[in-house]
Amino acid sequence: MSGGEGVARPPVIEFRQVALTYPGPPPVPALLPCELRIEQGEFVTVVGPSGSGKSTFLNIAGLLDAPTGGRYLLDGIDTEALRDGDRTALRGRRIGFVFQSFHLLPHRSARENVELAMVYNDTPRAARADRARQALEQVGLGHRLDAVPTRLSGGERQRVAIARALVSRPSLLLCDEPTGNLDSRNAESVLVLLEELHRSGMTVLVITHDPAVAARGARTVTIRDGVLDERRDEPVDEQDEQDERDEQVTV
Ligand code: ADP
Repeated sequence: MSGGEGVARPPVIEFRQVALTYPGPPPVPALLPCELRIEQGEFVTVVGPSGSGKSTFLNIAGLLDAPTGGRYLLDGIDTEALRDGDRTALRGRRIGFVFQSFHLLPHRSARENVELAMVYNDTPRAARADRARQALEQVGLGHRLDAVPTRLSGGERQRVAIARALVSRPSLLLCDEPTGNLDSRNAESVLVLLEELHRSGMTVLVITHDPAVAARGARTVTIRDGVLDERRDEPVDEQDEQDERDEQVTV
């Protein structure tokens, strides 16, 4: 996955003044021109309230929608001029999607669900079972290969979905509210897995409305009213919190 020694790799994601306005009428400027660079191996969260532009951002980053302004380079590839077929192929090869709903086939085993992701890529049939097993081992489900989703917990189902996203060896794991359907214990297990994948070198991008989930990223970007902004640590906030606690003690 990594380049040779000394060879500079392009960022996985590079937005150059990327923007999207829905045509309407009336036109809706859902994402205002923004710059964003996500380097290989980063764990970035994007957080914002409902209606802030998260889905718009996700659709652009995931090559599901083309921006109406600016340029988006994925792994250094300028996506602007791509025809639909090439865009789809690039998406399939480079991006592994994880959604809030797991989208697993209920009557197929974990291994079969992961294998099915390889039907439409170049993986030879003979290699699929092995690759699926490896991906499931990577997410800690090596002992549940033959379990059907209805016999798995929510957290385990999301792990299968993550294995399915990883099996094509993407350069980016793009997660949309990955813990949105999970109770806190299962959510925690999925977040720990994402942290482990990050430590093993995977580039992880998580989009969420939940500040607690966003805080797990090594870097957090906020989105509000279509404006993407790097979140900076603000020690002032901590002081404010301390002041608040002090006040509570004295009243
Ligand atoms: P979020 O995912 O954070 O809830 P969205 O990206 O879905 O936000 O929406 C951002 C803004 O764009 C909102 O004001 C929403 O109403 C608007 N919007 C989303 N999709 C469309 C569309 N297809 N046409 C027009 N406006 C849209």
